[in-house]
Amino acid sequence: MEGDRIRELFLSFFEEREHKRVPSSSLIPPPESGLLLTNAGMNQFIPIFLGQAEPTYPRAVTAQKVMRTNDIENVGRDARHLTFFEMLGNFSFGDYFKADAIRWAHELVTEGYGIDHDLLWVTVFERDEASVEAWIELGGLAPERIVRRGLVDQFGEPANYWWTHAAGPAGPCSEIFVDRGAKYGPEGGPDVDEERFMEIWNLVFIQDRVDGERTVIEPLPSENVDTGSSLERVALVLQGVDNAFETDLLRPILEVAEALSGRTHGHDPADDVSLKVIAEHGRATTFLIADGVQPSNQGRGYILRRMLRRVVSHARRLGIERSVMDPLIDVVVDRFGEAYPELRANEALMRQVAGSEEERFARTLRQGLVLFEEAKDRAGEGRISGEDAFKLSDTFGFPVQLTEELAAEAGLAVDGDRFAELLEEQRGRARDAAKKVPIGLDTGAAPPSTFVGYDQLDADGTIVSLLDPEFRELQGAEEGEEVRVFLDRTPFYAEGGGQVGDRGLIRTPSGLIRVNDTVAAGDRSTVHSGVVESGEVRSGEEAHAVVDADRREATARAHTSTHVVHATLRELLGEHARQAGSLVEPGRLRFDFPHPSAVAQEQLQEAELIANRRLARDDAPSIFETSMEEAKRLGAVMLFGEKYGDTVRVVEIGDYSRELCGGTHVLRTGNIGVIRLLHEGSIGAGMRRVEALVGPDALREINAERTLLHDLVEAIGSNDPRSAIDHARKVIEENKRLRSELGKLQKGDRDALIASLVEDAQDVDGLALVVSEVPGEDASGLRELAQKVRDRLQGRPAAVVLGGGADGKAQLVAASTSEAVARGVTAPELLREAASVIGGGAGGKDILAMAGGRDASAISEALGGIPARARELLSAR
Ligand code: ATP
Ligand code: MG
Repeated sequence: MEGDRIRELFLSFFEEREHKRVPSSSLIPPPESGLLLTNAGMNQFIPIFLGQAEPTYPRAVTAQKVMRTNDIENVGRDARHLTFFEMLGNFSFGDYFKADAIRWAHELVTEGYGIDHDLLWVTVFERDEASVEAWIELGGLAPERIVRRGLVDQFGEPANYWWTHAAGPAGPCSEIFVDRGAKYGPEGGPDVDEERFMEIWNLVFIQDRVDGERTVIEPLPSENVDTGSSLERVALVLQGVDNAFETDLLRPILEVAEALSGRTHGHDPADDVSLKVIAEHGRATTFLIADGVQPSNQGRGYILRRMLRRVVSHARRLGIERSVMDPLIDVVVDRFGEAYPELRANEALMRQVAGSEEERFARTLRQGLVLFEEAKDRAGEGRISGEDAFKLSDTFGFPVQLTEELAAEAGLAVDGDRFAELLEEQRGRARDAAKKVPIGLDTGAAPPSTFVGYDQLDADGTIVSLLDPEFRELQGAEEGEEVRVFLDRTPFYAEGGGQVGDRGLIRTPSGLIRVNDTVAAGDRSTVHSGVVESGEVRSGEEAHAVVDADRREATARAHTSTHVVHATLRELLGEHARQAGSLVEPGRLRFDFPHPSAVAQEQLQEAELIANRRLARDDAPSIFETSMEEAKRLGAVMLFGEKYGDTVRVVEIGDYSRELCGGTHVLRTGNIGVIRLLHEGSIGAGMRRVEALVGPDALREINAERTLLHDLVEAIGSNDPRSAIDHARKVIEENKRLRSELGKLQKGDRDALIASLVEDAQDVDGLALVVSEVPGEDASGLRELAQKVRDRLQGRPAAVVLGGGADGKAQLVAASTSEAVARGVTAPELLREAASVIGGGAGGKDILAMAGGRDASAISEALGGIPARARELLSAR
């Protein structure tokens, strides 16, 4: 059965059983998940499981894009582990539980997929009798096919109690395994061999909330089901192939790697790993970029960068010199563009980002090879050190296998144990970093609040919780104390979608709080950070919240302007120039977008003009809520990091802009007044950034420019800006002419000096010897002089020794003609004693040597000894 059919079969099987088909969410997970990348189908439902969000449907089914970078080392080495894969899953939000989940899973596996019931094995959580019973009663499994497992398996790996690897929902689970036959390993079930008995599906019964260490904190308000089954593993089984790369999902990509390298899979184990890594990572990175991940040195950007580097270095290993990402993107878009339209929509971006990262890495790779050569020289006991191998892998993205192979060619080994140790240390650090909850607050426990600030700038409400800056509960707070305030209703906009959080005041019957910032905590909660300005405030009191209206207006002007500028730039530069990140502040905006080259000054001016014309049309933005499907149909611009949900907010301006946006906007574009584009520049790897000021803030900038112009005109000594340019050009011309004349004069001086030095040559036993002190010359000036004088004396035995001093240091230079060298008068020898006189040493080649010393007062003494030294050298022959 083809991959596409399996996916559709799964989705429609559960759709027929009243599950809502929900699209895959982005690989970039919501921040409150505490995860870097989406690693399971349930990620987008975390707020529902935690009881923080109401499900609008009790059952769902998805094919979710997931990334599991901790499986990266297994890619290409076993049959079944990938970093990126499609997770098929069905979900129940407090609706059905174990019995139905198990019954349906068994039905789909045996009747839908047609897998022989006798090949099935399952695991359950130790004391989960309800699941054991369901497997026997409803699935008809023999008790000896049901394996009980605890928190960890026999390798100490987490087993049948599932969590996301971060604080959040969790629960016992039951896994389904298929026996692939004696060809793949020994008898005995999954406890003996997981390559033969391969896990295809995990049914998780989400019922607890755990902390970041997998310790249960409390039961959840309801019992839920969350299952995950990778499409690739099911395809592997149904297509009867050896490994995931032989399925119709990955085979076409593997073939591209084969074609590029001219090698075929199945001949050489090391080549096979490289081919598979190229195919697998090529697909994973394409999906990551399409979801808006950009290569960088931290977080998910670093994961992307490392994976792109692994693709390129494995390609080099196979002798591929040309760009590989381009053809890989072709096949991935071709194969998956239908199921994941974001691939088609972002094709230009994907090529741009992958291409420039590949190019950049090709340079790094060349540098890495240099480091490898050094590491080879350092290698003790025939081994490259673990430190060097680690540095090559960490800094230059050299897979350790590549280092090992390069080393083997040179007859060396690599200290793999030390390498593994360093890698483990680094992983530990990464794990610790991943555990930090961003906001220092348990967002799951934060009280919910209703946002009323789209149409109101003040509102009455109640302080439902008052915390100190470390998020400890307070009963009350007095003047001067810093507080975090939660209101049941608030007009304050919490930072989001690039727009800064509101500031303002919260008044209670007995006190006043000045709010300095507003941020979101989880999906439904808002934290106001501020200081008690007067009186005292208490938890539970009524409060009147007032947003700083001027600041909010200036921010709204900037936000609407961002949409206008965005639409305008996309029109002028092309569809690919999609906003990839933005900052919206009072009166000022900044946004980033992919574009291969600098935006020309004229284009920027044209964009500014068009944008301002649009403002003058004084359109009233129309803002409405609709379904995601409808918004897509309308062609609304979806930005990266938007959460896919059922209802979205669309902001439409005139006939030119339609975006999904949760921000605040002006009532009419005329309110903005004017947009001034400040500058545009590169922020690395094909990404550009523009900044702009709007409204009165733009005028301030225009005035500042006017003042600058005025000062400039004055400094040039002109009184009219129009004639100032001519004036400045004339001054610059004049300056050039004067410089060149000065140069000629100086050169004349130097030529005269050279001539007189040549003239002064004395004869020392047939050697023309020039010895002179030339004060005020630095080392390079002296060297140049000495060479020129020597060149004039070329063709006969001649030598020049010049001495000088700058900044209290002594400098000597000697130059000999080849005829002099032939007679034993080499430059370093000539200088040897003189050098020690000035307190230094001589060095250089036979025809040119230099010496530097600390004793400038000894220069004449040093030069005085040169003729005698020359005589000595001549007579030594
Ligand atoms: P395994 O023990 O095989 O590594 P897991 O226990 O990590 O799997 P779960 O977290 O239970 O897997 O994920 C659910 C399903 O996802 C598995 O049943 C399997 O079908 C699939 N799966 C897990 N990891 C991978 C991977 N790296 N590549 C492909 N499929 C995977
Ligand atoms: Mg498992």
